[in-house]
Amino acid sequence: MSVRCQKCFRPMDFCLCKYTSEIDSGVKFVFLTHPKEYRKQRTGTGRLAKISLKDSEILVGVDFSENSRLCSLLSDEAYFPVLLYPDENAWNAKKEGFSEALGSKKILAILIDATWFCSRKILEHSSFLLDLPKMTFLGVYRSIFTFKKEPRPECVSTIETCYYLIRELQDAKLVSQETNPEPLMTVFKQMIKDQIRAENERIAGLRPNTHPNDWKYTKMREMPKF
Ligand SMILES: [Zn+2]
Repeated sequence: MSVRCQKCFRPMDFCLCKYTSEIDSGVKFVFLTHPKEYRKQRTGTGRLAKISLKDSEILVGVDFSENSRLCSLLSDEAYFPVLLYPDENAWNAKKEGFSEALGSKKILAILIDATWFCSRKILEHSSFLLDLPKMTFLGVYRSIFTFKKEPRPECVSTIETCYYLIRELQDAKLVSQETNPEPLMTVFKQMIKDQIRAENERIAGLRPNTHPNDWKYTKMREMPKF
């Protein structure tokens, strides 16, 4: 077991902290994480998003209905809470009435940062989350992370969700346009490259191969050009 960075939870030789910067986005982000995945998620990006975004935090649990931190945030009049979740009635940054509904409040963006299976578990036990106003994107985005096994290709990672949300809110002039959210993508791209490098080194026998019989781990991958 290699030594891990206590901040980003990556192995020390893959520590991504130096690629992060504290982005003051004008949005408060809350990442809800399943306890099973809090430390183990190999390809999770919630942790990196938390490190990169100034006003953000991670809450760990399955049933959040009595989570005191979440309850206090949700009852704080300073915030306009939204669950980042696709829904035909969801808000988006440019939807008619959104800026009026928001007023001078700060968006409290709640994201479920879990694999599809664990997200479902969280929503089953915390169904009140689905009663919150929902928010989604105006644009259609695809993840640049192609080997995360998501049921739908259009699923974007947590860190990309934060990035596109900030971009769309900036575009709608609902948050400051001074802030540059690009470091979110920079650290995400580095994470992808590190992951590919590590997999390739496993295939080449330079690292212990944890999945020798798995076809996915026998083919070298080309390094993306970003
Ligand atoms: Zn680190």
